[in-house]
Amino acid sequence: MFDQEKIAALLKKHFKRSLWVYHANAGSCNGCDIEEVNAFTPYYDAERFGLKLVGSPRHADVLLVSGPVTRQALPRLKELYDAVPNPKLVIACGSCAVGGGVWFDTYHTMGGLDKVLPVDFFIPGCPPRPEAILWGIAVAMGLVDKKVEPYNYQENTADKPMDNI
Ligand code: SF4
Repeated sequence: MFDQEKIAALLKKHFKRSLWVYHANAGSCNGCDIEEVNAFTPYYDAERFGLKLVGSPRHADVLLVSGPVTRQALPRLKELYDAVPNPKLVIACGSCAVGGGVWFDTYHTMGGLDKVLPVDFFIPGCPPRPEAILWGIAVAMGLVDKKVEPYNYQENTADKPMDNI
């Protein structure tokens, strides 16, 4: 469960100045990957917030994952997670990583990152734009406020007449 206060406290305590990010593709179509890499280009300039892409999970503070986690990608993803030193953050980026997306109940995927790893932060979108990725990380870092509050949707089935079915 996403706990913004816990993450903000963790960031303040352990990652005061910068967050080094390792990006992992866990079966994504590459749409999310392109936007993630785009967010770190000079045009969007994520480094002004102290965010930096690194080439090794051993140098990272954050594991940024895209894709619904295919069964083939799962063993390598777990190895990557173990290689990131503690304390670490895990961010699910894109609708596939957030909840499986269109693949949520297919036989060859795990149906989302939180089925296999403890996820601290979710950035939805198919794919999320670089602005959304930066905004999401900025919310987690406590730099900006959330735009909307989360809620659980409950369908009102009482209004549906059964005799029409
Ligand atoms: S969320 Fe959309 S863009 Fe991202 S990996 Fe899934 S299908 Fe591709």
